[in-house]
Amino acid sequence: MKLSIVIPIYNEEENIYPLYEELKGVLKTLEHDHEIVFVDDGSKDGSLALLEKIQQQDDKVVVVSFRRNFGQTAAMSAGFRYATGDVIATLDGDMQNDPHDLPIFLAKMAEGYDLVSGWRHKRQDPFLNRRLPSMIANKIISTVTGVHLHDYGCTLKTFRREITQGINLYGEMHRFIPAIASGVGSRIAEVQANHRPRLRGTSKYGISRTLRVVLDLMTVKFLLSYGTRPIHVFGMLGMASGGLGFALALIMTIQRTFFGMPMANRPLLLLAVLLLFMGMQFISMGLLGELQVRTYHESQGKPIYVVRKVLGRREEA
Ligand code: UDP
Ligand code: MG
Repeated sequence: MKLSIVIPIYNEEENIYPLYEELKGVLKTLEHDHEIVFVDDGSKDGSLALLEKIQQQDDKVVVVSFRRNFGQTAAMSAGFRYATGDVIATLDGDMQNDPHDLPIFLAKMAEGYDLVSGWRHKRQDPFLNRRLPSMIANKIISTVTGVHLHDYGCTLKTFRREITQGINLYGEMHRFIPAIASGVGSRIAEVQANHRPRLRGTSKYGISRTLRVVLDLMTVKFLLSYGTRPIHVFGMLGMASGGLGFALALIMTIQRTFFGMPMANRPLLLLAVLLLFMGMQFISMGLLGELQVRTYHESQGKPIYVVRKVLGRREEA
């Protein structure tokens, strides 16, 4: 078995060498072959030069360097593409994750899990702008996605290769990999991981990340539940809205025709018309969505299901 370690790096010059040394120390104790994929996410400090130096001394190191800063999700996504291991581990470049946890993760993987996610049960970050928003976010993500973990934001995770190959990441979605992976039917486990305070360099995120995470959550939830059948969500909304509008308009028409009640001066009329239009719009959006889904799946030959294995025959007919 080969292990790939993927590490996103953005302006971490003080951390790179200590991290590399510590990680190497751990990797030496494992019997697996390994590689380390550093993804330099357009660092503006000396990170890239350092990585290049390390790469020259160690042929197990791969460095992917971005032209500019594309974000941690993009960096991890690139890391997945260049990683050749059977098992892929992701690790923060700031030494907050502890490489000494890797053996626990690998042992869990050996039990047959496709993805093992870290839980920073004693997280070493400020409370107000980090742990509190993340506690709330974790609760929401757990409820909405139905994948129940304590901690979605921990970068320390291990994946079976098929998982990283099978998913595409956008936005800030790396924290939703477990949810996306469960959408393709992965077996997921969570283990407690050590977490350390950031000693060198600065955090790359502020509080606004929480809002972006909520937006990404909406996207993920929508794609997981309705990604192949958008008319079911938009159509339902359209039918509810259009139906209510129609009922209101009908009542008013009856009142107007049979009971002589005036119609024109009633705000309800406006609401009825609004609901009818919204209903039409929702249904058209759903139909457009259906067209999009067909383009998406048929243009790539991407089926709407995921096969774990086929017994008896290898090829499709
Ligand atoms: N990172 C990155 N690109 C970015 C921001 C961050 O590659 O645009 C990397 C960063 O170098 C670190 C990891 O992502 O290795 C996590 O970032 P950080 O420690 O700032 O996040 P926090 O631990 O504060 O959530
Ligand atoms: Mg950090």
